[in-house]
Amino acid sequence: MEVRGRGVVGQGSAAAARHRHPSPSHRAAAARVQAGDALPLPIRHTNLIFSALFAASLAYLMRRWREKIRSSTPLHVVGLAEMLAIFGLIASLIYLLSFFGIAFVQSIVSSSDDDEDFLVGSSGAPAAAAAPSSRQQAPAQAPCALLGSPAAAAHEKMPEEDGEIVASVVAGKIPSYVLETRLGDCRRAAGIRREAVRRITGREIDGLPLDGFDYASILGQCCELPVGYVQLPVGIAGPLLLDGQRFYVPMATTEGCLVASTNRGCKAIAESGGATSVVLRDGMTRAPVARFPTARRAAELKAFLEDPANFDTLSMVFNRSSRFARLQGVQCAMAGRNLYMRFSSSTGDAMGMNMVSKGVQNVLDFLQDDFPDMDAISISGNFCSDKKPAAVNWIEGRGKSVVCEAVIKEEVVKKVLKTNVQSLVELNTIKNLAGSAIAGALGGFNAHASNIVTAIFIATGQDPAQNVESSHCITMLEPINDGKDLHISVTMPSIEVGTVGGGTQLASQSACLDLLGVKGANRDSPGSNARLLATVVAGGVLAGELSLLSALAAGQLVKSHMKYNRSSKDMSKALAMKPSRDLGWCSGNGQVRTQ
Ligand code: ADP
Repeated sequence: MEVRGRGVVGQGSAAAARHRHPSPSHRAAAARVQAGDALPLPIRHTNLIFSALFAASLAYLMRRWREKIRSSTPLHVVGLAEMLAIFGLIASLIYLLSFFGIAFVQSIVSSSDDDEDFLVGSSGAPAAAAAPSSRQQAPAQAPCALLGSPAAAAHEKMPEEDGEIVASVVAGKIPSYVLETRLGDCRRAAGIRREAVRRITGREIDGLPLDGFDYASILGQCCELPVGYVQLPVGIAGPLLLDGQRFYVPMATTEGCLVASTNRGCKAIAESGGATSVVLRDGMTRAPVARFPTARRAAELKAFLEDPANFDTLSMVFNRSSRFARLQGVQCAMAGRNLYMRFSSSTGDAMGMNMVSKGVQNVLDFLQDDFPDMDAISISGNFCSDKKPAAVNWIEGRGKSVVCEAVIKEEVVKKVLKTNVQSLVELNTIKNLAGSAIAGALGGFNAHASNIVTAIFIATGQDPAQNVESSHCITMLEPINDGKDLHISVTMPSIEVGTVGGGTQLASQSACLDLLGVKGANRDSPGSNARLLATVVAGGVLAGELSLLSALAAGQLVKSHMKYNRSSKDMSKALAMKPSRDLGWCSGNGQVRTQ
């Protein structure tokens, strides 16, 4: 990390120098931006008007005073024209002073700050060493008035001692990653790191907010080296009527139409009596790889692990990792003398990677006694398989394996989805089944499961990278009741979710879990909250599939896409834009607002 930090410093030194010594044009540009924000006219016009007013008023008054002196007229006797000229002079003077004067003062202040930074950096004094003793002088938090105003927060004047720490970070004398530990104030550490990044890169990053976030909540758990946070809108689809319960599903997304489309699917499901789900399996996997001198030795361990007689011993060792981890089985595969051992375990309400990894490490340590020639290459040998498309997850499952189904009534297909059962079934066969087969899909026999999975994952603090396998889904559509009604199902073998651990404990994500009634650990029945969340994900996917397929079947995709997914009012321009990404899904009928 240090090496990388120094590399960045090196690369950014020119930019940093630019920042320390802004050229006059840079200063003028900065002043234009600040003052221009408050003015109704373009800044150069306003400047011109006030400068002209100032010059004209001054010239007129000077001429009048010269005449008065020559004619011995008292100076304080003024006419209307002179009064107007005096007023114009004062007004233009105030404008010019506040415009150029403030910029001038700002430039002096900032350059003196920079000089200090430069001096501290070159003196080599470890500024952070002095920081804790005088910490109380530095405001731990920005004033509340600055909350929600990232630009203002970014330009807030930094206490002198923080400026010195920034300079040391920029100079590579203090590693950025020790700031939290040394200062004992996560918000302050983030602010200092952010300022260092700003100086190194010469980029303002104003749009990235700093205040309004609890940096202590992510320390050692969610994100290292924080400098701010990204804002994402959260929309609500629902109610999703699932297993007799109503869920309002939070979706964090920047894809226009996605929430509206899922909402329409929810409506169709609810008007048809709701969806039902079943959890087929619940177990997280981790597969270490070990190398042996010979394939024969690797096979001996494989036989040992797969022998039912040894399961109790292995479980006892594995389960020591957590009171929630319960070993379910070990599946082995070999590649030459390498053995891949896929351990599967229940993990309560946690997604479970940490706890399974700990259990696996316990077992490896235990095995080393009987297999001293085992060379444990890695705690993960990719047979797990985490965050990569892999057939093993699609076939064997990982996390929660869920099937969700609904019967959509004929009239709902017509009224809400604006299509008919036959078209939907035909489309699903040709697109989601045959089309995906042609594409060589791996778990991708669906229209856009990952859209819904990812949006819910982000909103509820799941690991978004696990969207890869969590979005595996086969969507099935069949006509039933003599072809009048539609049976739809989604089968998702590897939904990896938790309601404790990771990002689930952060304020926003926790609020979204609470909305679904699955926040935190389920004390009565550990694991129930996480399983319920997995069924909601599958239910959301069911709604999303239903709505998109309907939009495609009705041939209204482009029309509603243009209506709801383009900020441009110019349809010819909008139509000329690349359609491939956005045509993956849409609300369909142009009536997505109706409930
Ligand atoms: P993960 O294994 O998903 O990475 P963590 O290990 O970060 O999750 O979080 C799980 C932690 O939460 C464990 O320390 C576990 O003891 C604790 N915990 C508390 N209640 C539960 C529960 N109901 N299910 C699972 N873990 C729980």
